[in-house]
Amino acid sequence: MDCQTCQKHLAEVLRAERPRRLLEAIQQGLSGKAKGGGDGKEEGTEPVLEPGGLRLVCQTCPRQGPAAAARAYLEAPPPGVVLCANRLGSRREVEEAVVHELVHAYDYLVAGVELLDCQALAYSEVRAARAAECSKTSRSLVCSYFRKNCARSTAVRSTEGLFPGKGAGCVDAVFNAAYQDQRPHDDGGR
Ligand SMILES: [Zn+2]
Repeated sequence: MDCQTCQKHLAEVLRAERPRRLLEAIQQGLSGKAKGGGDGKEEGTEPVLEPGGLRLVCQTCPRQGPAAAARAYLEAPPPGVVLCANRLGSRREVEEAVVHELVHAYDYLVAGVELLDCQALAYSEVRAARAAECSKTSRSLVCSYFRKNCARSTAVRSTEGLFPGKGAGCVDAVFNAAYQDQRPHDDGGR
């Protein structure tokens, strides 16, 4: 799709429940951090986000570079989500990509996950896949066995992209813990 169509879908998607809840959790998590974990009254900590909040934009992504094959990616600083309009085909795909990247954004900005480490990235990829590509709503993965397999294979593909030959092992090492970790919202799924 072109950037204009992508922006139009994005505006709609940001009003949907799951993206909205994730964005709220990121804002809340960051304001809690800025106040020193919520128990201090320290001021002067630089806000991590721009005044408008987390930036989400549609772009035409080039064939080369770190995002060569990605549908979307997280960039920082300042933190933002880039959607590759030229690799997205429908509103549903835009929503999947947004939810996926917002899980990464939550892990990176709020939970402090270092996404450049193989196992840490694998952990976040399992969570993102579970919430997005392998969510119950997106592919009717009502059976927990298939949903789990979907999360595992999707996370392996993503992690292998950055850690060729190593990604699958990293996913295996963290899979169970990551799959159980449904922060910031437990979707009640299995
Ligand atoms: Zn990912």
